[in-house]
Amino acid sequence: MIIITKASISTDALDRIIEHVESAGLRAHVSRGEHRTIVGCIGDEARLSEHALTQLDGVERVMPILKPYKLPSREFAADNTTIRFGDPAGTVVGGRDIIVIAGPCSVEGRDMLFDTARHVRAAGANMLRGGAFKPRSSPYAFQGMGEEALQMLADVRAETGMPVVTEVMDPRQVELVASYADVLQIGARNMQNFPLLTEVGRVRRPVLLKRGLSATISELLMAAEYVMAQGNGDVMLCERGIRTYETATRNTLDIAAIPVLKRESHLPVIVDPSHAGGRADLVAPLAMAAIAAGAGGLIIEVHPDPVNARSDGEQSLEPAAFASMMTQLRAVAHAVGRDLAPTDVRLARSAA
Ligand code: PEP
Ligand code: MN
Repeated sequence: MIIITKASISTDALDRIIEHVESAGLRAHVSRGEHRTIVGCIGDEARLSEHALTQLDGVERVMPILKPYKLPSREFAADNTTIRFGDPAGTVVGGRDIIVIAGPCSVEGRDMLFDTARHVRAAGANMLRGGAFKPRSSPYAFQGMGEEALQMLADVRAETGMPVVTEVMDPRQVELVASYADVLQIGARNMQNFPLLTEVGRVRRPVLLKRGLSATISELLMAAEYVMAQGNGDVMLCERGIRTYETATRNTLDIAAIPVLKRESHLPVIVDPSHAGGRADLVAPLAMAAIAAGAGGLIIEVHPDPVNARSDGEQSLEPAAFASMMTQLRAVAHAVGRDLAPTDVRLARSAA
């Protein structure tokens, strides 16, 4: 159930609404927007009388939420969620500008990471990706460089100013990964690892939550609910292709998921065209489609030497291909009334 308050509500009246909800044993989740405040009620709604709520001072309307997900649902928030990154927190996802995250599938060493970071930064990427702990189908495949890779990511951030995103696979490693990374990635294979979702919900780091290989949109939103229920509202939903009967591509990019997620949720939507298509030549067309369909950002695999990459080389772009794709993406963004987020907000501001 959500309570929509009157625009003119006083702090006292809002406090009394919260008290009323909490005294019935439910949790009150307050979302303050520019024009309205919404109080979401989480718990056994049978204990709340809709009629009694409508009688409270400052209440405009009470609405039931029939969907199984609450905190990620559009009705629960007064405005779209925006998340800031970087130091100073200059890059924003969830607003008008589209963010681009780029980097290798796995961190394979210091030189290749610095090399990739410099190239993607120069081409306009806002954030660096790179796996330190890799979820591989085979236990004999390269599993990532672990903490050593986390340190390299932190060093590259210090040098380039780029915030970094990396995957965490194990609830026991959340604290460690969060001590190095700006954004915690939950991989597709872990979308329903509930102890992991709970653990990332407890830290103050934005989460990039990838849709499971066979997960419905509703299941993705329920996974976001797990994270948010612990108090971490900074969740980005990531469409990265789903399993279908088609074998010509690694996965099938569910373009419709972008507008559906935007209709259902206030959270930013990121698209991963690299894992969706599984082939370098498909990345640019899928990325352009994602922007045209309204994505708030992209995450793209770039490698200085894709042929010799230790993971996902077939779908990784060379730096030059990434740079020319960025030019195409900028044009598509302009065509739909948006822009790519500037890489250095301070520079962009002083130039404006
Ligand atoms: C990755 O980002 O390298 C990755 C393993 O992605 P996904 O979990 O979407 O397969
Ligand atoms: Mn990968």
